[in-house]
Amino acid sequence: MTPFSYQRPERIDQAIALAGPDSRYIAGGTNLLDLMKEDVLRPRRLIDINGLPLRDIEQTPGNGLMIGALVSNAELAWHPQVAQRYPLLAKAILAGASPQLRNMASTGGNLLQRTRCHYFYDTATPCNKRTPGAGCAAREGRNRIHAILGASAACVAVHPSDMCVALAALEAQVHVKGPHGRRRIAMADFHRLPGERPEQDNNLTEGELIVAVELPGEGFACHYAYLKLRDRASYAFALVSVAAALELDGEVIRQARIALGGVAHKPWRVEAAEALLHGKRVGQDCFAAAADRLLEGAQPLADNAFKIELARRAIVRALSEAAEGSIR
Ligand code: SF4
Repeated sequence: MTPFSYQRPERIDQAIALAGPDSRYIAGGTNLLDLMKEDVLRPRRLIDINGLPLRDIEQTPGNGLMIGALVSNAELAWHPQVAQRYPLLAKAILAGASPQLRNMASTGGNLLQRTRCHYFYDTATPCNKRTPGAGCAAREGRNRIHAILGASAACVAVHPSDMCVALAALEAQVHVKGPHGRRRIAMADFHRLPGERPEQDNNLTEGELIVAVELPGEGFACHYAYLKLRDRASYAFALVSVAAALELDGEVIRQARIALGGVAHKPWRVEAAEALLHGKRVGQDCFAAAADRLLEGAQPLADNAFKIELARRAIVRALSEAAEGSIR
């Protein structure tokens, strides 16, 4: 591991003032420390943010929730307001990692976790995300877990988070603070597709710190589903996941949200697919049409063509479960 300095500020402005090109903020460290031990990341300065006042969950004036960036994944999933009003989010969080990791991992850190592409972690192989311009070993290598949507010649990695898939469906907002002030980023705009700059996972600028995640008032608590398909039943990343949320008037769909995980470099949402459902009576035909629209343009790699049909079926199943409406 490359030597680094360590600082633990007590104020947000102090933390931001310490940030620079070779620094990293650290909270739970559940991904960052692995990356440092494997020599994938070599920050010169760690800024421990665990002393900052970012651990509250508060009601917003719009009847939503403001979740401090240091709230752990476990605290968030089991918080009474989240469990009752945003069960889609609670279920997605509990589908991820292990209880030990969820106790350590923070809300802000979950948004910043890196891809689990094998080659990204293997410093003996070329990887544009780790070393820009080096090449992409996954394109012609083992790519069963990789992207079918939104990939580029430079990178075919997928975003690994479950929580972010639910946050995308719920249209959460990410509050950040940096050297140039405070701003809000819509969840849809927080993560990036790889394009020619796969080393950039998100649209944060240098020194910006996630301070909170805001949930809007509508939590779709009556009709939701989070379906995660993976190689083993727990402690595995999604091959495909689906966050589905419906607002129904009897059997007529008033509003639909669908976000996919495990298929792209960011949670995948297509508003035109959701619009196909608006005003329709719930049923397999309209769910299948929405699935086809969501997966339009999907391009398989050598090992992952199965993901397209898997995703299609998962979307229809998740929407069917959401329409049935139950607390699972
Ligand atoms: Fe690196 Fe992306 Fe290629 Fe994986 S898919 S080897 S992360 S460039």
